Amino acid sequence: LSERLSGVFDRLTKQGALSDSDVSTALREVRVALLEADVSLSVTRDFVKAVQEKAAGQSVTKSVTPGQQVVKIVHDELVHVLAGDETEPGELKVDNPPAPILMVGLQGSGKTTTTAKLAKRLSEKNGKRVLMASLDTQRPAAQEQLAILGKQIGVDTLPIIKGQSAVDIAKRAKQQATLAGYDVYMLDTAGRLHIDQVLMDEVQAVRDVANPRETLLVVDGLTGQDAVNVAEEFDGKVGISGVVLTRMDGDGRGGAALSMRAVTGKPIKYVGLGEKLDAIEEFHPERVAGRILGMGDIVSLVEKAQETIEAEQAERMMKRFQKGLFNMNDLKAQLEQMMKMGGMEGIMGMMPGMGKMAKQVEEAGFNDKVLKRQVALIQSMTKKERANPQILQASRKKRIAKGAGLEVSDLNKLLKMHRQMADMMKKMGKMGKRGMLKGALG
Ligand code: GDP
Ligand code: MG
Repeated sequence: LSERLSGVFDRLTKQGALSDSDVSTALREVRVALLEADVSLSVTRDFVKAVQEKAAGQSVTKSVTPGQQVVKIVHDELVHVLAGDETEPGELKVDNPPAPILMVGLQGSGKTTTTAKLAKRLSEKNGKRVLMASLDTQRPAAQEQLAILGKQIGVDTLPIIKGQSAVDIAKRAKQQATLAGYDVYMLDTAGRLHIDQVLMDEVQAVRDVANPRETLLVVDGLTGQDAVNVAEEFDGKVGISGVVLTRMDGDGRGGAALSMRAVTGKPIKYVGLGEKLDAIEEFHPERVAGRILGMGDIVSLVEKAQETIEAEQAERMMKRFQKGLFNMNDLKAQLEQMMKMGGMEGIMGMMPGMGKMAKQVEEAGFNDKVLKRQVALIQSMTKKERANPQILQASRKKRIAKGAGLEVSDLNKLLKMHRQMADMMKKMGKMGKRGMLKGALG
């Protein structure tokens, strides 16, 4: 999207106020992009209208192009809608022990996994004593599944008694949690493939028994528009206090998050990022906004870059990245920028897909001192070598390393890092060309 917008604006005025036609041209692109990201039609309409109002008449600051400015307005509005007025998105209400948490959703959405993930967080991070109970009498071995997860994370599960109904199990969980002094008890309900009356009746009956402090709807973030229908249905029939979006580690574009937030008004509390039991994190509106726009946190990267380098250079850099170009000179510029922008950690956190790499880099003992050495290594290369590091022969490698007062292994590490980053840039570039991107988050 960002590239499309920049393209649109490159053809338009470079300075002055954002004119109505500038804005409406850009908003046509935004509209298409949102629909492609699985945002519902009515939500898209409202969204575009809000952006239109905000953008109209804004003057274009000198340091950014109109394209970047509209991207930023769109981005900020996305964050605004996604965040709602939640101040602490990840907070669960778990006072007044034992606090019941009811987990609801369709079959396969990730309820059981999410129950265990949240139980683990509550016990490890918040020091709560948690009891989990599976109310899934539908799927064979569903109750055992939760018991196994409980063992893995060291959280108690309610002993299984076969033949009990979901409501019976809920009653038993409540009783056990009260008697044994648990802080929280979590009820993992059975799902269905589709919403049906039997499911809703069961969930309602359980809700009436437990009177939950939180009713969390678990939805598969990959299901797009369907997820919104599911959320409306559950909210209408059972009443939900929040949403957990799972499979956000996948290719989904996160449009469901925006629609769901706009339609139900319920906060998205967590996102699931994998099958492992610590693969969950609090919902970060900026990340999902970036994902919907398909540019990671490029907006904030642009902002930060502007503080330290001239806008033109930043623009040139972004253009190259978007084309998938990334040679040693780019790497050198990046490394130097990193030093200015709060080191590795600061910048890696902002680039899509860099989270994982940041970890690798950290494990490799990479720090700001190493940054300086990397720059020194690149400085010892010829112009040709910088443009095309593949041509480096063993003898040249030795000489370059020596020139920088380092070992060949240091140079090899640098080359490897460059290759990884170049790959990433290529992927990002391709995504940009497709207009909308999938999975800009790593
Ligand atoms: P339930 O039927 O709603 O209880 O769903 P489960 O918790 O049994 O999950 C169904 C499948 O989805 C399992 O294989 C989980 O490992 C997987 N899963 C759950 N959450 C996530 C997630 O955030 N990311 C990924 N990649 N897989 C997930
Ligand atoms: Mg389950």
